[in-house]
Amino acid sequence: MEQLAGGLELERYARQLKLLGEDGQKALKEATVMVAGIGGLGGTAALYLAAAGVGRLILAHEGNILAPDLNRQILMDSDHLGQERMSTAIARLQRLNPHVAIEGYNSKIEYNAARPWVRDADIVIDARYDFPERYALNRLCVDTNTPMVEAAMYGFEISLTTVIPGLTPCLECLYPDVQPQWEPFGFPVLGATSGIAGCLAALEAVKWITGVGTTYAGVMHRFSSLDFACYSVHITRNPNCACCGEGGKP
Ligand SMILES: [Zn+2]
Repeated sequence: MEQLAGGLELERYARQLKLLGEDGQKALKEATVMVAGIGGLGGTAALYLAAAGVGRLILAHEGNILAPDLNRQILMDSDHLGQERMSTAIARLQRLNPHVAIEGYNSKIEYNAARPWVRDADIVIDARYDFPERYALNRLCVDTNTPMVEAAMYGFEISLTTVIPGLTPCLECLYPDVQPQWEPFGFPVLGATSGIAGCLAALEAVKWITGVGTTYAGVMHRFSSLDFACYSVHITRNPNCACCGEGGKP
């Protein structure tokens, strides 16, 4: 705890030290988490990871703040409508916790550009909304052997699993084809639902980094925020998966 001791930085974590221990807090401080997408889901995850004291965050999200973002994208605000999402989010996170090193890229997830970000991360949170980017991120995590929290929501429904390359199913094991009916723009979302999904994703990352508790590795968790029904099922790899299986591309 050397680098945390002797100041306000350690004091701010006083209420969670009893849960994570000093070793857990130190592990968070030394960790790098990439959050791909800082909208309703990823922005919530980034907020709680910064609050928890993750040492370095790498963020990626393109574009400017639009009015329809504001029902869920809690890192954004009305004063910055029309301005870049990423710079607004970084400023918000740094106000929350100035001890976190934050890198942000005003960018979608593209394999070559995102490779160094994924390679540097101890764990990645996939909070993108469209499947091409999700597949690119999944491929990157498999290629770099980086764990990935696969979190998604649609309407009132949430699904979450944690991918450990080589051990658990990857995204392409679960969804081998891009779903043609997928409509990424204008999908229905209530902020509280995407916030729950973001909190679950942040918790997965904290558990993975600190070793406290059990992650959803190899387990698909589904939750309905409408009636609070939930269930978990064990999931298995597809040996012929085009990404992580024997049929995988070189
Ligand atoms: Zn796979």
